[in-house]
Amino acid sequence: SKVKEMSAEVVDSNPYSRLMALQRMGIVENYERIRDFSVAIVGIGGVGSVSAEMLTRCGIGRLLLYDYDTVELANMNRLFFRPEQVGMTKTDAAVQTLSEINPDVVLESYSLNITTVKGFEVFMESLRRQNPKNSVRDDARSAGVDLVLSCVDNYEARMVVNQACNELNQTWIESGVSEDAVSGHIQLLIPGETACFACAPPLVVASGVDERTLKREGVCAASLPTTMGVVAGLLVQNALKFLLKFGEVSPYLGYNSLKDYFPTMEMRPNPQCSNSACLERQKEYLLEKPVRDALAKAK
Ligand code: ATP
Ligand code: ZN
Repeated sequence: SKVKEMSAEVVDSNPYSRLMALQRMGIVENYERIRDFSVAIVGIGGVGSVSAEMLTRCGIGRLLLYDYDTVELANMNRLFFRPEQVGMTKTDAAVQTLSEINPDVVLESYSLNITTVKGFEVFMESLRRQNPKNSVRDDARSAGVDLVLSCVDNYEARMVVNQACNELNQTWIESGVSEDAVSGHIQLLIPGETACFACAPPLVVASGVDERTLKREGVCAASLPTTMGVVAGLLVQNALKFLLKFGEVSPYLGYNSLKDYFPTMEMRPNPQCSNSACLERQKEYLLEKPVRDALAKAK
């Protein structure tokens, strides 16, 4: 029993042994790879801040945080930010808290509006830059991040994330919470392979599932820390599956809290998409089809 007690102590004092247990139990092949990954989070509000905290506690290698706003007292109905952080930029306040939780995570704070010309430039440049801690990757990728998470609350910003990711051929996951705060969704976007955000008008895409994910100008939106926490959990769970290659990443997952209903669906790209970078990625994806088929056959 002495031995048992001792090993229990070791487990309790080291948070990573619990994460490494995912590997011992055969869920994840190599959990430690988490340290090699860089994730960009756009929008550090109700969903983005909680997602950043989850990834930090999971031991992610590097987080790039983007938001143009400052912390307000009105944000206290969400999780993560604290009253003494009122007035700080959301990205700096997030770095403050996250670096205390896990000093090993490389944190980059970008307080900017991604929809302005200058903001978009900095956004693109930062996504391209290689992780300084990890300059030699085992897979030859040109992009500097492994995944982009969109946690913004408006159409314009989502279209800008879509543009950047289509140009960079960067996989991203979009998230949203409805104006009435009782439903939400996440959506995986792989340029050329799945529908991009411009491929289908979002209101049409969402019909029957999640009618009002997009907030209207001048309308006071409702907000619940519960719905935002659930959506952040779904978002980061799928991000972990994508990065560490376990389970299945949902192409689209809705959350209706009134019925506890979780609809899923798949969306193919639109060959008539208005986004030219999307059309280029679609062409590339079709050209690579024989290679994919051969690889699948060889497996
Ligand atoms: P509310 O809109 O309900 O007052 P909020 O602005 O905090 O709250 P959230 O849904 O909690 O909204 O979070 C969305 C986050 O995305 C916000 O922190 C917002 O500042 C950020 N955001 C939205 N558009 C942009 C943009 N173009 N560039 C950078 N950050 C953005
Ligand atoms: Zn498209």
